[in-house]
Amino acid sequence: RSLEICDQITDLNAFTSLRKSDDLKAEAKKATRRWRQVENKSPIDGMTIAVKDNFCWVGHPTTCGSRMLQDFVPTYNATVVQKLVNAGAIILGKTNMDEFGMGSGGTDSIFGPTKNWWRSGLAYEVSNWNDERLPGIETGRVDSGATDDWFISGGSSGGSAVAVASGACFASLGSDTGGSVRIPGAWHGLVTLKPTYGSLSRHGLIPLVNSMDVPGVMAKSVEDVQLVFGVIRGVDPMDSTTVIPPFKDEPPKSVEGLKIGIPQEYHCDGMSEEVLQTWSDVADVLENAGAQVKQVSLPHTPYSIVCYSVLNPSEVSSNMARYDGLEYGLRTEQNRSTEALFAENRHLGFNEVVRGRILSGNYFLLKENYQEFFGQALKVRRLVQRDFVNVWSDDVDLLLTPVTLTTSPTFREFSSLDNRTQTTKQDHCTQPANLAGLPALTIPVKLSESSSLPLSVQLIGPRFSEDTLFNLGTWLE
Ligand code: GLN
Repeated sequence: RSLEICDQITDLNAFTSLRKSDDLKAEAKKATRRWRQVENKSPIDGMTIAVKDNFCWVGHPTTCGSRMLQDFVPTYNATVVQKLVNAGAIILGKTNMDEFGMGSGGTDSIFGPTKNWWRSGLAYEVSNWNDERLPGIETGRVDSGATDDWFISGGSSGGSAVAVASGACFASLGSDTGGSVRIPGAWHGLVTLKPTYGSLSRHGLIPLVNSMDVPGVMAKSVEDVQLVFGVIRGVDPMDSTTVIPPFKDEPPKSVEGLKIGIPQEYHCDGMSEEVLQTWSDVADVLENAGAQVKQVSLPHTPYSIVCYSVLNPSEVSSNMARYDGLEYGLRTEQNRSTEALFAENRHLGFNEVVRGRILSGNYFLLKENYQEFFGQALKVRRLVQRDFVNVWSDDVDLLLTPVTLTTSPTFREFSSLDNRTQTTKQDHCTQPANLAGLPALTIPVKLSESSSLPLSVQLIGPRFSEDTLFNLGTWLE
């Protein structure tokens, strides 16, 4: 069935490579046998999972959506991929993404942009959505009608979102540095988790910004996300930033008595009426159920994106240094000199966004600029982190915010903005959690009355509060 769906959604460009059908069938057969014979199987045994194309998967191309890595075939598995395989999951294929994870639209891949499954005209045929869970589902079954414009998937983990929304797989892995799992997930009506930094191994996840990257999970329900997260979490000797969560002897709180903060700085220019309405509707629902909902302030939020715009390119510029065409990456025919070879490899291997970020990062890290830009940004990052610590110590359990400013825009609308504006616009509510390393869960709420596209909210909690997030998420579902 997965293969059939993959076939039906080819036009959406969700996959960069798919598993051979014979291999898939053989694995499915083995899994069926295990289901009949083995007791105490892992909960995801035999489930299909799609993996973003920046996680190493031994023997399969891992391109990061870039020409630079078009021929790269890893010799080892990312830890999270290995854990999935060990648990009997069937990896369906690798999913399309913005080059090296730089983007919010799913539009900047060497394989071409990924289209949103909703309103693609394919939603009806392959729908296996549970109609009760998303009221108004039938309005999703319309063809956009426009042939020359379409809704974007969101990014950078756009392919992973389409793969799950279409029903091609049970769950998928993405990576989230500033919102890359939550944005496409929200624009596809999925439940997504960006876990606490350090709770999942980054070993084998090709880095974008080491201090903010986390693998994330997308699925159709909180329970499904929880199952996958339960399998892949944990300390990894290959990633020294993974940590053991602090032991908590109290069970996660339920809705009644939960203190929910509404951060006022998450209101921002360009946020659509329906996004604001959804946010306040969910706050009302929680309040009526006995939660204490109160306004809170995270005063440094407006500086968060600016801070990210310095830290991201700075880490990017040093991460990208390895792609010189000799050690890693595309090697061209240039033979004038070693310098010329490097230049040509990097010019042809990277898209403009990546090259732009390398240049800005190099500038921020110049000896004479370092303190003014990088050093200053680190201080601002600390202030953003401290804002969160202050609200937690002010007796707030979780924060409720929107995920994106609008529903998924059309390709034409999105590509009329430059890359920096695309990011600063849609990442406003998602990106601070990355600066602070906090867990966040997004929950679909309803379909927009004007566009019939999904609208979601986000819950952010203190470090390692995943269980409380899951609890409230399940309740909200
Ligand atoms: N949109 C942000 C960027 O372009 C974040 C991307 C991500 O989370 N990988 O850097």
